[in-house]
Amino acid sequence: MAKSSFYDLIIVGGGPGGLSAGIYAKRAALDAVLLEKGVPGGQVALTKGVENYPGILEISGFDLCEKFVEHAKSYGLEIVQQEVVAVDPGLDFHSVRLADGSILNAHAIILAAGGKARKLNIPGENDNFGKGVSYCATCDGFFFRDKTVLVVGGGDTALEDALYLAKITRHVYLAHRRDEFRGSRILQQRVKADPKIEILFNTVITEVKSDAQGVVGAGLKDTQSGEERDISVDGVFIFVGFSPNNQLVPAGVKTDANGYVTTDHKCETTIPGLFAVGDLRQKYANQIVIAAADGCVAALASAHYVELKKASAECRLPA
Ligand code: NAP
Repeated sequence: MAKSSFYDLIIVGGGPGGLSAGIYAKRAALDAVLLEKGVPGGQVALTKGVENYPGILEISGFDLCEKFVEHAKSYGLEIVQQEVVAVDPGLDFHSVRLADGSILNAHAIILAAGGKARKLNIPGENDNFGKGVSYCATCDGFFFRDKTVLVVGGGDTALEDALYLAKITRHVYLAHRRDEFRGSRILQQRVKADPKIEILFNTVITEVKSDAQGVVGAGLKDTQSGEERDISVDGVFIFVGFSPNNQLVPAGVKTDANGYVTTDHKCETTIPGLFAVGDLRQKYANQIVIAAADGCVAALASAHYVELKKASAECRLPA
């Protein structure tokens, strides 16, 4: 339960963006609370190896998150495990409604709700989730030891997770809809050099096939020739990008065509005092270091906003 009902700053979401915002907010002497419905860390906690966070050669996503949390707590950031069900902007202050019915108010809010894995929406995908269909290699790879799996996608996640699965499984099919990967060059080189990975370019998956026990195969289609065929696989790992968790973004906040929140250079949305960071925010790339940097910018801008708000004669606090 939160210690107060009125804060300088409420941070919604406990991934790298939210936790970084918490660190900078506390260093700026803001009375801040971070609300997270699950365990702090967000998607990063599910990431195997992080090799591109400056200053750290290699670390598991889980361990990196623990460091973020430890760092934020060392400054006294209040972290409350509660689900936010609505964000209500106001003229004098903003509010969030929690799943337990309580309401917290603040001068400023930082939305750091991240994103989630996108689905293919093909036959057999939903029905076999947890029975061979997965969106997380770290979570489920273990169940496919010495088996054959199909990885779908051509971005960094698909390449990284295909490499991870190749270490555990017997064979990995990697199907990508184009003839060129989107993921980074270094991962492309590693994937192409891995003898256990069979790359299927210009290939889409049309169906996940299963029996009573779960996944047994997949239907594939060559996008050039139109030729269709089935392959036998024990698991299908789908990594076709993700969508921003924008359900809490209030009406009046500008978003792009894909639902990402549009902000200015301070990470401030079209509603003053309401900020968006990390994977929720429209930008060139989604990276841990970018989410952390966004958190920094939004917290510093919030501190300035809160200072002006407090100095303003129009500032009216709730009764
Ligand atoms: P992404 O970069 O958006 O890639 C999604 C991939 O899925 C693309 O190759 C896309 O194909 C394909 N795709 C999308 N919809 C599809 C559909 N309906 N059917 C078939 N294929 C489909 O997503 P991501 O790989 O999850 O990466 C997200 C962000 O996180 C990126 O900025 C990435 O760099 C970053 N990331 C970084 C690391 C790392 O640096 N260690 C690890 C993971 C993720 P097209 O290419 O044809 O569009």
